[in-house]
Amino acid sequence: MIEASDVTRVGVLGAGTMGNGIAHVFATAGIEVRLVDVDQKALDRARSTIEKNLARQVAKQRLDASDAEAALSRITPHTSLDGFADAQVVVEAATENPPLKFKLFAELSTVAPADALLATNTSSISITEIAARTKDPTRVVGMHFMNPVPVMKLVEVIRGLETSDDATRLTVDLCERLSKTPVLANDYPGFVANRILMPMINEAVYCLMEGVAEAEAIDAVMTLGMNHPMGPLALADLIGLDTCLAIMEVLHSELGDSKYRPCPLLRKYVAAGRLGRKSGRGFYLYEKS
Ligand code: NAD
Repeated sequence: MIEASDVTRVGVLGAGTMGNGIAHVFATAGIEVRLVDVDQKALDRARSTIEKNLARQVAKQRLDASDAEAALSRITPHTSLDGFADAQVVVEAATENPPLKFKLFAELSTVAPADALLATNTSSISITEIAARTKDPTRVVGMHFMNPVPVMKLVEVIRGLETSDDATRLTVDLCERLSKTPVLANDYPGFVANRILMPMINEAVYCLMEGVAEAEAIDAVMTLGMNHPMGPLALADLIGLDTCLAIMEVLHSELGDSKYRPCPLLRKYVAAGRLGRKSGRGFYLYEKS
């Protein structure tokens, strides 16, 4: 398998909350990015978000203006998987939906080169199950970036049952090339990050539903009392309430323990289209950008 330092072309599948950040960090590391989404509007939004976030890094003197411009020029939008025909690495960051990811990986393993690393940014879905849909499960790995990607250091690297040592090493080395800190985890529902985080967020929604306290008060207890940088409800809005619900569904169905049942209020908000920041309203109200 290729060395991380030789990677010059990556594909990013999905241009939503995470996909735009993943494209951003690869492009600022000098790597060409093919960014694919089925939704042209998502691609347009991703470009303007990346532009805004690069400008913020320039304003904070973390990046030269010329490097920001070069990074933006390395990102090419596509609406078809054919954009990945010459990708050495593909990172999938499409909607958290098991059947969708299974279908996408079956397609990716025919479209991407036979030796490409196929990584998924899934928050909770089994890497082993995703890999089983491909021609070569040894090249499939979990590469779980945190939100917002340009800011957060951690990447959880998850080995599926068949993931090879070479694929794991390449993923770890790529994280380091992106100036991220990789942490290895095994393939169990939610891995480490969401096995711990999501039940906490879900419990905060139960507190809201049962009238234990208002949203602001619940978040204040966790920020001021537990020293969390963000309260759980504000964090859920940042992640996306649909994504939080999808992760809880995976934890609940895969681990089979009622402690993971999604809170009915979370379901209600998702049904109403209150998805958090990305829709302009979740537990809090946001200006639509
Ligand atoms: P999102 O809803 O913001 O974006 C998903 C994107 O996938 C959308 O633009 C959608 O158009 C696109 N998409 C859907 N079907 C597609 C298809 N068939 N082909 C191409 N694109 C398709 O979701 P997100 O928050 O960016 O989450 C993406 C992945 O990252 C999920 O697996 C999620 O669990 C994971 N993740 C999310 C966070 C977070 O904080 N939001 C953090 C870590 C990991």
